[in-house]
Amino acid sequence: MSYRLTAPVPGWTTTTDVVVVGSGVAGLTVALNVRKAGLRAMVVTKAMLDDGSTRWAQGGIAAALGDGDTPEQHLDDTLVAGAGLCDEEAVRTLVTEGPDAVHRLIGTGAAFDQDADGAILLTREGGHHRRRIAHAGGDATGAEISRALVAAVRSDPGIELIEHALVLDLLTDADGRAAGLTLHVMGEGQRDGVGAIRARAVVLATGGMGQVFSATTNPAVSTGDGVALALRAGAEVTDLEFVQFHPTVLWLGPDAEGQQPLVSEAVRGEGAYLVDGAGVRFMAGQHELAELAPRDIVAKAITRQMQLQGAEHMYLDGRHFGAEMWEQRFPTILASCRSHGIDPVTGLIPVAPAAHYASGGVRTDLTGRTTVPGLYACGEVACTGVHGANRLASNSLLEGLVFAERIAADLAERHRAGDLPERSVDVAAARSARTAPLLAPETRAEIQRLMSRGAGVLRSAASMAATAEGLAALGREAGTHLDEGKPADPRVETWEAANLHLVATALVAAAVLREETRGCHWREDFPERDDAHWLRHVVTVLGSDGAPEASAGRP
Ligand SMILES: Cc1cc2nc3c(=O)[nH]c(=O)nc-3n(C[C@H](O)[C@H](O)[C@H](O)COP(=O)(O)OP(=O)(O)OC[C@H]3O[C@@H](n4cnc5c(N)ncnc54)[C@H](O)[C@@H]3O)c2cc1C
Repeated sequence: MSYRLTAPVPGWTTTTDVVVVGSGVAGLTVALNVRKAGLRAMVVTKAMLDDGSTRWAQGGIAAALGDGDTPEQHLDDTLVAGAGLCDEEAVRTLVTEGPDAVHRLIGTGAAFDQDADGAILLTREGGHHRRRIAHAGGDATGAEISRALVAAVRSDPGIELIEHALVLDLLTDADGRAAGLTLHVMGEGQRDGVGAIRARAVVLATGGMGQVFSATTNPAVSTGDGVALALRAGAEVTDLEFVQFHPTVLWLGPDAEGQQPLVSEAVRGEGAYLVDGAGVRFMAGQHELAELAPRDIVAKAITRQMQLQGAEHMYLDGRHFGAEMWEQRFPTILASCRSHGIDPVTGLIPVAPAAHYASGGVRTDLTGRTTVPGLYACGEVACTGVHGANRLASNSLLEGLVFAERIAADLAERHRAGDLPERSVDVAAARSARTAPLLAPETRAEIQRLMSRGAGVLRSAASMAATAEGLAALGREAGTHLDEGKPADPRVETWEAANLHLVATALVAAAVLREETRGCHWREDFPERDDAHWLRHVVTVLGSDGAPEASAGRP
C-alpha cells in the first residue's frame, strides 16, 4: 500500500523522458548524461538551481589523482571509515571510476586549483592517508562545481528546468512502475500550483536531511523529502541511523538553529588543531591520525570533552597559518568567521559538532535502481553502500558524480534495448493512495529540538524513547486536527513538516534498533561495536499503518 501527501488534484500535466528531482551535483550530472543518450530530461528543484548542499561544499572531492596514490588505497581508507558496513563492490566502483569522473567534470567546465605546472593541487582530510582531495577556489569547491554544472544544463536546450517546484509524490502505472510525479510549483503562468509530470523514469537527487536536527550544516532545502517520498512509494531505505555530525561547525551560541557555518576539515588537514578552553590539545593519543582521525572519532572526542568540562564548545587553533594563508587557502571560512566577529588569524575558533551528512538513504543497487521499478536515486538521498556506517570526508561529491553517471548509463542502455517505454498513468486514480495528515509549520522547530535532544551525537534507549514519544505526539495532534475538520492546509511548509516528521520517525526507529556503537551511530547504553549481531544493515519501510518499520536486514 502506498501513501501520499495530502494535496489538491493536479491542475496541469506535462511529459518528459526522465524527470530528475534536485539540482545538486547528482541531479545535474544525471540530466547532462541522459541527454547524451538522446533522452529528454526535466530537472525539478525546490528553490533556485544552486540551492542545495553542493554549493556549500568546501573541502573538495576525493579521488586517487596524486602521484603514488591508487584506487586501492582510497578503497582501504573508505572501508575503514565505514566501520564494517560498506558494500565493497560499491566502494570499488566509486574509487576506480572516480578519477575519470573528476576529469569529465573538469571537461564540463569545473576549474580546480592547480600548481604552477597545471597539476591539480590535492589536500588531505580526516581518514585519508594521502593527499587526494581536489579543491577549487581554495575552500569553495562546491560553488565551483555547481557553477559549472548549472552553466552546462542552462546551455542544453534538451534539458528543461523547473525552479521553485516542490516535488510531492511518485506516480506509478498499473504495474507499480514509476511513471512520473506530482509537484507544487510556486510560480506564475501555466505551471502554477499542483501539477503532474509523466515520465519514463524518475530520478531522486534530493540531497540530505540535516534539517531534522536543530543545528546542521545543511541548507534549508535539506528536509529529507526524497527519503520521505520513497518511503511513501513503498521503497526500502537503509542505514538511516548513520548521520554524520561534522566535528567542527562554528559555534554561534546556545540558541543557534538551522544552517550553521562549517569550518572545513581541510583546515585541520593543513595543520590546525583542536584545543579546550585552557588551550590544551586533546586529540593526540586518541587516534593515530589525531585531529585527522575519521569524523566520528573527532566528533565524539569533542563531545566527550564538552561533557567532561561542562563546556558548550571546544576551539580550533589555526593562528599559526598567518593572515596570508587564511586569505588564500580558506577565504570563505575566513570571511564567514569574521562576519561573526571571530578572527582566526589572531584568535581561536569556537566549534561544536552539528548534523552534516546522511550516510543512509534510499537503498539502491550499483546502477542507482531503488526497490521500486523505474525509480532511481543518487547523491546524498541514496544509500549505494559506499559509506557504510560513516562517510569518508569528500567522498560524497564523488559519489554523486559517479553514481549519477551510472544511472544515466543504465537509462541509456535500457532506452537502446527498448526497455524504457512511455508509461501511462491515470493521475486521478493515483490519488486513491492513502494520505497522512499534514503537520503545522511550527512543528518543524519542535521536530528539530526533539531530534537534537534525543537522537543527536549521543543516543540511548531512554533519550530516543523520549524523542519517539514527542514525534508520535506531534503526529497524534495532527490527526486530532484532521478529525476536528481543522487540518493543516496543504502548502510548502506543511508538506516539508510532514516529510521531516516521517524521516525523523524513521531515523529514530532505525537508531533504536541498532543496539551497538558503530561509525557515526553512538549509543551511550551500548558503547561497543557488536559484530556478532550488527554486521548488517537496518532496513526501513512503511508499515500498513503508515508508520516506519525498521528491521535488521541483510549483512
Ligand atoms: C557545508 C557543507 C560542506 C560540505 N563539504 C563537502 C566536501 O568538501 N566534500 C564532499 O564530498 N561533500 C561535502 N559536503 C556534502 C556534499 O556537499 C553533499 O553530500 C552533496 O553536495 C549532495 O549533493 P546532492 O546532489 O545529492 O544534493 P544537493 O546538492 O543537496 O541537492 C539537492 C537538491 O534537491 C532539491 N530538492 C530537495 N527536495 C526537493 C523536493 N521535494 N522537490 C524538488 N527539489 C528538491 C534541492 O533544492 C537541491 O536542488 C558538504 C555539505 C555541506 C552542507
